[in-house]
Amino acid sequence: MDFEFDESQKIFRDSLREFLDKEIAPLVDEQEKKGPMNKEEALDIMRRFKKIGVGFDVESMSDMASDPLAVGIMAEETFRVWPAAAGLVGLSFPAALVNIASDDMHERLLPKLMANELIGCYAITEPEAGSDNRSMRTSAVLDGDFYRVNGTKTWITSSPVADLCMLVANDEKGERIFLLVEKEQSPYEVSDLHKLGWRGAPTGEIFFEDCLVPKENNVMNMVTSAMSGDRLKKLMGDNYDPEKVANSKFAKMMGTMAPENMIFAFLRSGMALAAAGIAQAALDASITFARERTQFGKPIGRMQLIQEKLYNMKALTVTSRLMAYWAYKLSMDADPEARMASSLAKGYACEVAVQVASDAIQIHGGIGLSDEYPLERYFRDARMLTIPDGTTEIQKLVVGRELLGKGFSAYV
Ligand SMILES: Cc1cc2nc3c(=O)[nH]c(=O)nc-3n(C[C@H](O)[C@H](O)[C@H](O)COP(=O)(O)OP(=O)(O)OC[C@H]3O[C@@H](n4cnc5c(N)ncnc54)[C@H](O)[C@@H]3O)c2cc1C
Repeated sequence: MDFEFDESQKIFRDSLREFLDKEIAPLVDEQEKKGPMNKEEALDIMRRFKKIGVGFDVESMSDMASDPLAVGIMAEETFRVWPAAAGLVGLSFPAALVNIASDDMHERLLPKLMANELIGCYAITEPEAGSDNRSMRTSAVLDGDFYRVNGTKTWITSSPVADLCMLVANDEKGERIFLLVEKEQSPYEVSDLHKLGWRGAPTGEIFFEDCLVPKENNVMNMVTSAMSGDRLKKLMGDNYDPEKVANSKFAKMMGTMAPENMIFAFLRSGMALAAAGIAQAALDASITFARERTQFGKPIGRMQLIQEKLYNMKALTVTSRLMAYWAYKLSMDADPEARMASSLAKGYACEVAVQVASDAIQIHGGIGLSDEYPLERYFRDARMLTIPDGTTEIQKLVVGRELLGKGFSAYV
């Protein structure tokens, strides 16, 4: 069993760290004080990430997919430096659907896709349907060549700056469908929400009122026809092999997991990695400070109670990271345990990140509470983690259901 990154993963992690420290870290303080990024600021971040090969065009995606762990490393390292940028880039994943969209959409949006200038968001939560998202009311009723969408989504990361929204709605039969809504073609209104942490991240409420979405933007249809049809052949060129596609992990996942469970397995493993990233930042700052700060004539790092805190922080951070990568790997492998593992990791890592960030403040004494230092931000950013993509309570119920089996769900 291997708990270490291999050489190429270490090289990737180190160059990513260098990029984050040089290109992203200098932007954090000012933007966090200013509040949510506007569109131009968000695009600037997206373009910077493109420089290190992060994007949703076929080429960038196949580079990242050559070692799927790279995406996990991205999540952990970027959250360590700036959660707002991590959320913006990570949740732009609906942009990848442009690769398999209708010819019209594909041609129109390809230049922006290639430049990593397409910002995406994922909208399932509603004002009356949070943890219980099955009770959502947003409707998408087929009307000629369009779906007519009505409803409100809330707490949607990046929605104020997004070009594309992957929307979850009920169709005319009451069945859950996913639609790719392009804001320019199918306009909708968005209002901003402000929050405790991740202050640089734009978050909003979306209002759909008779919003018309072309019926070819039904995501399941897009994926099914791409898996079997010409688009994939065109995208993959000589590498296209229908048998390989049919036996791919993605095809396996599609066959074994409901689409929202598949999305949640990735989002939740990603949130666990995010938590490990924030905890690591808080721990690193505490180690430096404990070496430097002197009281009673010696560095506080020589006080046993400070060492005990560092011991606990390290144990919680390492456990979170191991759990998170384990869950992430099971999700990538379309393993039947992925749902349980991602909820276990998300629930655990996000709760303990709050504890680690709180201990980091304690080690720093008064300056830990000052906004001149990043400790209070780590704490606020960590505190955000226990709610999105399923609260800790919901993760516990998912794990309970997965351990006990069908018929034991506590929430239906
Ligand atoms: C910063 C942020 C970003 C977000 N980004 C997105 C996004 O991009 N897209 C998106 O769709 N959503 C997003 N969300 C929404 C998020 O997923 C929901 O906030 C979350 O699922 C909880 O829903 P709720 O806020 O309505 O709380 P509620 O569901 O109302 O929960 C309130 C409390 O009741 C508890 N509770 C609920 N049901 C049970 C139960 N059965 N047993 C025990 N306790 C229970 C919860 O754990 C919680 O403590 C985001 C939220 C935040 C805060």
